[in-house]
Amino acid sequence: MTTAYYSHPDCHGHDMGGGHPECPERLDAIDDHLRAIGLDIALEKREAPLADAADLDRAHESRYVAEIGDVLQRIAADGRPRAIDADTIAAPGTWNAVMRAAGAAVAATDAVIDGEVVNAFCATRPPGHHATRDQAMGFCFFNNVAVAARHALDVRGLERVAIVDFDVHHGNGTEDIIANDERVLMVSIFQHPLYPYSGASPMGTNMVNVPVPPYTRGPQVRALIEENWMAPLEAFRPEMIFVSAGFDAHREDELGQLGLVEADYAWITERIKAVADKHARGRIVSCLEGGYNLGALARSVAAHLRVLLAA
Ligand SMILES: [Zn+2]
Repeated sequence: MTTAYYSHPDCHGHDMGGGHPECPERLDAIDDHLRAIGLDIALEKREAPLADAADLDRAHESRYVAEIGDVLQRIAADGRPRAIDADTIAAPGTWNAVMRAAGAAVAATDAVIDGEVVNAFCATRPPGHHATRDQAMGFCFFNNVAVAARHALDVRGLERVAIVDFDVHHGNGTEDIIANDERVLMVSIFQHPLYPYSGASPMGTNMVNVPVPPYTRGPQVRALIEENWMAPLEAFRPEMIFVSAGFDAHREDELGQLGLVEADYAWITERIKAVADKHARGRIVSCLEGGYNLGALARSVAAHLRVLLAA
């Protein structure tokens, strides 16, 4: 029983070009660092399968899934990239990448529920937590974590799952999808104000949002998490925990202005793991979201994985 590590070469094929921070090199940086420190051999490496349209329909409007699928497949065929919003570009490799990223999250959920592994990390891209029910935005096309959470509930029959989001940006897409779905508790912490400028007041009763001002550092973030997340998570008793694992709140990351370091990511992961161990048989599926300083990203993912591996 170990930690599964899902990825796929197709996730490199999504290339928004022109020095875009959400770049294929992010996955190379993680991979290189895990090899350098010898952590890769402890992980059970698995190839991410493609998602099915039915998987996506559980979190997104089926009309959106069909329409964005048509657009991405056309771009894959004609080779001409197209901007979906100001920050999000669909390239020829995007279709396969988005289907691998969502497919990884679903497969990881099955592997964990089936007891093949204790927990899993999806080193995939594009990220997902800004994708709403019917809109691609903020580097995201399909909401990988929401797709996986709905799979756990609707297909695998779980009754309560938690979503934990520690990306520096508010997970507006996840919030849009799961607002008032009482089978899900979402807890998040994010810089505010910062893109997408939402989250100060939650959309539903089933979420705990902790907006923090720029330049907040690790000790304050830890105190806020302890104070705001832990009692609701304990009371909710999730049967499984999904993590939107963004590492752009790192102090070296230029997309946000928070001051987390590797030890903070390890601590947050320990707190999540404590809840999972107590209520959810340790079951955690963590999906990569942001993290754009390549060195800080790789070191932070390693800190996160070390805790997951200590199961
Ligand atoms: Zn982010």
